[in-house]
Amino acid sequence: MRAAKGSLQVGSFRGIPIRVHFTLLLILPVLAFMFGGAFREAARMAEVPPERLLGSPALWGLGVAVGLFASVLVHELAHTVYALWRGGRVRAITLMMVGGVSELTEAPPRPKDEALMALVGPLTSIFLAVVFGGVTVLLQDTRSFNLQFACFYLASLNMFLGVFNLLPAFPMDGGRIVRAALTGRLGPVRATRVASGLGRGMAVLFGLYGALVLNPFLVVIAVFIYAGAEGEARQVRMKATLERVPVSLLMTPGLVGVDVAASLWEAMWALRREKKVVLPVTEGGRPVGWLWLEPVREVPEEERATFTPRELMRPAAVVGVDENAWTALRRMAEHEVPQLAVVAADGTLAGTLDLSDVQRGLALYQERTERNERAARRGWRQERPA
Ligand SMILES: [Zn+2]
Repeated sequence: MRAAKGSLQVGSFRGIPIRVHFTLLLILPVLAFMFGGAFREAARMAEVPPERLLGSPALWGLGVAVGLFASVLVHELAHTVYALWRGGRVRAITLMMVGGVSELTEAPPRPKDEALMALVGPLTSIFLAVVFGGVTVLLQDTRSFNLQFACFYLASLNMFLGVFNLLPAFPMDGGRIVRAALTGRLGPVRATRVASGLGRGMAVLFGLYGALVLNPFLVVIAVFIYAGAEGEARQVRMKATLERVPVSLLMTPGLVGVDVAASLWEAMWALRREKKVVLPVTEGGRPVGWLWLEPVREVPEEERATFTPRELMRPAAVVGVDENAWTALRRMAEHEVPQLAVVAADGTLAGTLDLSDVQRGLALYQERTERNERAARRGWRQERPA
């Protein structure tokens, strides 16, 4: 849900959209420019005479930017392929500045799988670094300076990605491994808090160091890590809380839907009576869609008797009255809708649930979740709020 903001879709993998976050889009030209400026020094580091390299420094800078992009993509696909293989479901892949996010609709069930899923990304990057490093060494006496220089840089970028992501702190992959290791003892919320605290601490150190050596790049990375660590902790707290709150506690019950065969004139009257901009449409008591006020209004008054909600409604996503609020929130995200029709065990409309209901539940029960977790130091007690 959260990484969908501020990103651009660039492709897809087995039907999973691949998006690029704006932080990566911003950093690539900066990186290209900085690399172009430090071109001669970089060539010396790779033990390649800069005058023997084809193309301008700016072009090489662009090449390095594309190389980073490709390396982040391969790293992230490694996570995704593993998650799919272990029975997880991935909703979207977002490529970011120093890694990415594979948004899981369904996480692999065991904490051990989460740790392994986190590990395969950095391992893939390090493996690529070793391969490109090996090729660089093999090319040393062949005078293929351009290829040697390119391989040297691909090796460096992948080594950086691999090692950086192994730092034991959120939002890096290492943070996930730490979290998985602590979850058994502390429960997911507190384990996440530890990993997130480490991430924030590391971000502050990074930022201070970056400020001391006047490196804006490090400061930007520090801000990015800090925000990521906080976001992760918030998300896990939210999940732990909402998983224990049944939809029945948060929904607006007893709302009368509009029958699918009613006239729009009746529908308009129902919307006014309930003081709503949207109402569920029912067929034999079961929810089948949503009717918004706006399209009804657009139908001229004299024609409202001839149309029914069936022609104007949008399909409804539903959640069972006994399902939990986290499931409901995920379903809203999957269908990209702000509200759900709540159904009773027999499939009939029991009420409605929208985003503000879920937020209210979060505010009400968050504190209780944290108290419970402190009380249950060992094991993961399933306690539902009364
Ligand atoms: Zn990763």
